[in-house]
Amino acid sequence: MISPPQLAAMAHAYGVSVARLRAARRYLYGGLFWGTLAQLWLLAVLAHLAFRGCGVRGRDWLRARIGEGWRLYLVFSAGLLALLELALLPWDFGIGFLRESLYGFERLSLAGWLLDWLKSALIGIAAGALLALLFAFLARRFPRRWWLAAWALVVAFMLAGAVIEPIWIEPLFNRFTPVKNVQLRRLIRQEAVRAGVPHAAIYQVNRGRQSSHTNAYVIGLLGSQRIVVYNTLLREYPPPEVRFIVAHELGHYVLHHLWLGLAFGAAWLLPLFWLGAWIFHRAARRPRFSAPGASLPAADPAALPLLLFLLAALLWLSTPAFNGFSRWEEHQADAFALRLDPHPAAGIAAFKRFVRTDLSYPAPPPWVVWWFYNHPSLQQRVGFIARQARASGKRP
Ligand SMILES: [Zn+2]
Repeated sequence: MISPPQLAAMAHAYGVSVARLRAARRYLYGGLFWGTLAQLWLLAVLAHLAFRGCGVRGRDWLRARIGEGWRLYLVFSAGLLALLELALLPWDFGIGFLRESLYGFERLSLAGWLLDWLKSALIGIAAGALLALLFAFLARRFPRRWWLAAWALVVAFMLAGAVIEPIWIEPLFNRFTPVKNVQLRRLIRQEAVRAGVPHAAIYQVNRGRQSSHTNAYVIGLLGSQRIVVYNTLLREYPPPEVRFIVAHELGHYVLHHLWLGLAFGAAWLLPLFWLGAWIFHRAARRPRFSAPGASLPAADPAALPLLLFLLAALLWLSTPAFNGFSRWEEHQADAFALRLDPHPAAGIAAFKRFVRTDLSYPAPPPWVVWWFYNHPSLQQRVGFIARQARASGKRP
């Protein structure tokens, strides 16, 4: 635990009041606490559906009404996904709306927030049901190696999702335009030219519609890749800091981080799917899933709750791996930014500003970073830039 004098020193170093730093810490730990409870709640709901025979009962009930075939699978999977979305709604609302309002970040009305939630839930249900239907088709075709087919299908879905997300999904929520401020647009274009990607697509997004949080990101694959900067960031950060943040995003772009992320995800999911299938086959022989001597096939809709439970549990346990890989990429992008835009003071000032604008707590303990953080902590990022600056004889 950090002592009051240490906290005061940290507040001074980051240019915020001690009260503000304490609020940042509450914002962080509260978010982690409620987020983890929501995750455990999802697992508990799935475990209940999987192990209390709900899959078998739900399938029989539905079969008596709409018969066998692909329609049964589609309606069953869409219904199951809708149920899960509803089970998570109170958590999404508490974490995504109430807390954000409490800390002064929320910009949407309740109705506006619910509309965004509904849109994203419907997209998730439609995409998930389509994925489930294709999975059922493959699992019937490959009754033994279905997990391998499912893996290939999921990787193809991740790739297709990455390609279409910025073109078809994101515009359903926000407006994407060229950077409106002429001076900033020129500054950003010069940075892209220096990075060797003069034609990189760079957009401004009106995220201030939903929230006062600031950010920038890279999204898309193949023809749809682009750098996106929040209008809140363009508004609140001085030009040298915007330039450093764009240089970081250009790092992701030039170093092909989205492809690397996809490759890492695919490589991690392969043994994970094998393990999930191994557990599934042992569970599927149990009497609650099938008649004595038989086994519930993976292609049966009644198997979906169990499959989803195994997938969610294994993915949750993989959190440190995915976050560790992401932190490595983020560090690479910081190093790239510093090479491209050798103004360490601007980088440090930008990272410090995140404490003020976004209530980012700069110095979480290592175990918190290890499990929860997909970026290095702000203290680590500021420390890295300061060390690099000293090594090259610049004043940080
Ligand atoms: Zn990044």
